[in-house]
Amino acid sequence: MIEGQITKVSGPVVQARGMAGARMYDVAFVGQLKLIGEIIRLEGDTAVIQVYEDTSGLEVEEQVTCTEQPLLLELGPGMLSSIYDGVQRRLPNLADDYGDYITRGTVSDPLDHERTWEFEAAAAPGRELVAGDVLGYVQETEVIKHLIMVPPGKGGVLAEIKSGEFKVTDTIAACEDGTEFQMVQKWPARIARPVVSKMDPNLPFITGTRILDTFFPVAQGGYSIIPGGFGTGKTVTEQTLAKWAQADVVIYVGCGERGNEMTEVLTEFPALEDVRSGLPLMKRTILVANTSNMPVAAREASIYTGITMAEYYRDMGYDVAMMADSTSRWGEALREVSGRLEEMPGEEGYPAYLATRLADFYERCGRAVVLGSEERIGSITVVGAVSPPGGDFSEPMTQNSLRISGAFWALDTDLAHRRHFPAISWMKSYSLYLDQVEEWYSENVNMDWKSLRDKAMMILQKEDELQEIVQLVGPDALPEFARATLEVARMLREDYLQQFAFSDVDAYCDPKKQYMMLKVIVGYYDVLQEVLVKGVTLKEALDVPFRTRIGRMKEIPLEEAESQLETLEAEMGAELRKLVRY
Ligand code: ADP
Repeated sequence: MIEGQITKVSGPVVQARGMAGARMYDVAFVGQLKLIGEIIRLEGDTAVIQVYEDTSGLEVEEQVTCTEQPLLLELGPGMLSSIYDGVQRRLPNLADDYGDYITRGTVSDPLDHERTWEFEAAAAPGRELVAGDVLGYVQETEVIKHLIMVPPGKGGVLAEIKSGEFKVTDTIAACEDGTEFQMVQKWPARIARPVVSKMDPNLPFITGTRILDTFFPVAQGGYSIIPGGFGTGKTVTEQTLAKWAQADVVIYVGCGERGNEMTEVLTEFPALEDVRSGLPLMKRTILVANTSNMPVAAREASIYTGITMAEYYRDMGYDVAMMADSTSRWGEALREVSGRLEEMPGEEGYPAYLATRLADFYERCGRAVVLGSEERIGSITVVGAVSPPGGDFSEPMTQNSLRISGAFWALDTDLAHRRHFPAISWMKSYSLYLDQVEEWYSENVNMDWKSLRDKAMMILQKEDELQEIVQLVGPDALPEFARATLEVARMLREDYLQQFAFSDVDAYCDPKKQYMMLKVIVGYYDVLQEVLVKGVTLKEALDVPFRTRIGRMKEIPLEEAESQLETLEAEMGAELRKLVRY
């Protein structure tokens, strides 16, 4: 045991001497209260420790004990439905024991060590096991079957295994060489869990939100960011994604937004219903929450805690969605600790390694062939909210996130003010995954998905250009075909892009319905242009009452969408062409 003494306390950062032998990122217990911290710098026998709890009252000469182990997470049945803090301490449980505030120096087991689980063995003695192989199953919640796997780096010839009721720490299987397996695995949060190979991100991560899926898709295993000022809809978007997106398991990391906002998440999330099962969404969700009374350093750890848990479920072959709200708070935690370490500051005081830390984190998502002798594929898709101060996208956190993200969903304050929701700007957002997911859409939705999408985008861009002219000379000065473009762009905005997150029918829009709706609007554009050329006036064309029917497309239930929208498209063409006078 390495024991040293505090020599200096500076906010969440503590310096201690007598720590020779300690390693970087070892966990240390600091002071009489045994506050949890991690060693983040070593110089001779002096260690600098970032402490995950409030350090007020700590004094020089108090004792520091190094555990000689990194921040280890407990991974096993019982994580789903749990609410953790940034260093995987169970929150409600702590609250039961300690009241509203977590007493400093509190240690709780991340998993319930007393609870028993029904373990069903799936491997037979004599089998040669490698890391990732399935020992058996536990029905963790009604919706998720938990695979009990051989941990990375372990293996051997299975000598015995038993089914039955066990606690997570009980031995359930053993190899001939004496290696024993429990249902719980320990893994250092800062180290990526290994996989066999990463795959191309060529499947879309279907969200059911039209502007995201059709215009700025993110691939399964991709990384997208949502930057936006206060009140633009980051939280609603992340919750909508958690509820509807195509993921088996959802990990939501609340990275120290203002305290009351986190309270909202903590009360709202457990109340959300899983639309697929009708059960609470928490049955397949883990919350990692940092409320504002927790010190900054804990925020820094929380995204690693979140992604490690995501990797663990990915290793079972699940598609995991991780939401981080917001990564700006994580960046600020890095900045604060870096400042205390008196490191050379980079842009706006952020440490120069901000970009590398972000990139390292990003490396941990992806779609992958996971460990194990039978092939399984799992994925982690990360959606990170960024909250730039004052909504200014040129600040370092947004810029650095932008460099590594594959999809950028820019929330726009103007749109939010106009109550255009989701307030995602079609002019400022982009996606690098379009070409990669095109094949999936061609095969599963329609061959012309991409060209239709591009055409709709062209109409929206055209509107943007025309608006400038309109502001100078007024709409009446525009030629009819340009006014028709404006009309169709308005339809795209109001009848396609706007999607009310709280609507029963429209909160989720299936990719096929998205395609059909777009086909109707773009079809309307084409036929308008066609009849205008043939001498029909715009007024005559607009008087044929299709606009209202197009406006109601959103509310058509999924089952009827295809047939109703096909009829609408056909009638539209026929009716408008009747206006042409030959
Ligand atoms: P932020 O987290 O960026 O501060 P919120 O997610 O809390 O913002 O959104 C602010 C408000 O905007 C919400 O209370 C809601 O009324 C509205 N809103 C945002 N997105 C949507 C949406 N997709 N559909 C309907 N309303 C929305």
